[in-house]
Amino acid sequence: PAPVARRPIRELPDELISQIAAGEVVERPASVVRELVDNALDAGASEVGIKLLAGGVRSVVVEDNGCGIVEGDLPLALRRHATSKIASLPDLESVSTMGFRGEALAAIASVADVSVLSRTAEAAHAWRLDARSGELAPAARGVGTSVEVRELFFNTPARRKFLKTDATELAHCVEAVRRHALARPDVSFAVWHEGKLVEQWRRGTPEQRVKDVLGDDFVGQSRAVEARVGPVTITGRAGTPDAARARADQQYCYVNGRYVRDKLLAHGVRSAYEDVLHGGRQPTYVLFVEIPPDRVDVNVHPTKIEVRFRESREVHQAVRHAVDAALAASRALAAPEGTA
Ligand code: ADP
Ligand code: MG
Repeated sequence: PAPVARRPIRELPDELISQIAAGEVVERPASVVRELVDNALDAGASEVGIKLLAGGVRSVVVEDNGCGIVEGDLPLALRRHATSKIASLPDLESVSTMGFRGEALAAIASVADVSVLSRTAEAAHAWRLDARSGELAPAARGVGTSVEVRELFFNTPARRKFLKTDATELAHCVEAVRRHALARPDVSFAVWHEGKLVEQWRRGTPEQRVKDVLGDDFVGQSRAVEARVGPVTITGRAGTPDAARARADQQYCYVNGRYVRDKLLAHGVRSAYEDVLHGGRQPTYVLFVEIPPDRVDVNVHPTKIEVRFRESREVHQAVRHAVDAALAASRALAAPEGTA
């Protein structure tokens, strides 16, 4: 090998550390939407508004009516590894909030212009913190928080080049909200683009929310899933084989309320359809897996889209069994009398 010039080891500057972290967490405007809505839900909001300009590239604003942030904590909210959600290893091992890494706002602020406007119930008025200038000033709004993210990747042109058209970025943003909306029928969501309301889901029952988000067709062509296997509870809806699609674009899986993409769960579902789906047809489903938090590790991936189960075989079987049972019930219904 060619001789290598030995170079001194240096600690990276804070800004660069955050930009590296942002590389993992923030891929596109939809990632910003996901993180900000996570925060709104963790703050106990019952109403979340998402306002986008140019597919979210020019601006993403997420407004909530949650608990707000006290003035003294505002600068901390933007600091790396600063969080109000966990304080110890036992907390981490049984985390029940969407966030816990204390990374998102700092990461986003390193690749965009961020300002946070917030007011708690005790405060006489709101405060607004501008991340870039550090300026903290009194402002007006009701109890809750608005986070504004402008000009994503303005300082990292290489990343900005990977963004697609505004229409595509908008579709990803709406999909990010849809994933939250399915899991939280007790919260109302509204998405605006360029000042126009593009989606709105009002608070309601879980059944109503599935209908509002995925449509009457999905509900008509799916069966209720409800099963309990050991400590694992699985609810939701599984599409009938007739509802299968060419693309895997209607598959929603949640673990303890968190949207996940998990091979093990997907495989468990898939195996329930084994005998009824052929030729690469994709099942449709919305499944909510509830499992005691100490049996699942959510600290696997920076975006928390992957999880690791302590008893993965059991979870796989539980999912398979739950979907199987739902499909069997639908076959029994479909069979003419006396032939079942
Ligand atoms: P994490 O969510 O992992 O704690 P974030 O960087 O997303 O990290 O947020 C940092 C902190 O800022 C949170 O722990 C929370 O205390 C506060 N925060 C952020 N967004 C909101 C919000 N919408 N309402 C109330 N507090 C918030
Ligand atoms: Mg967060």
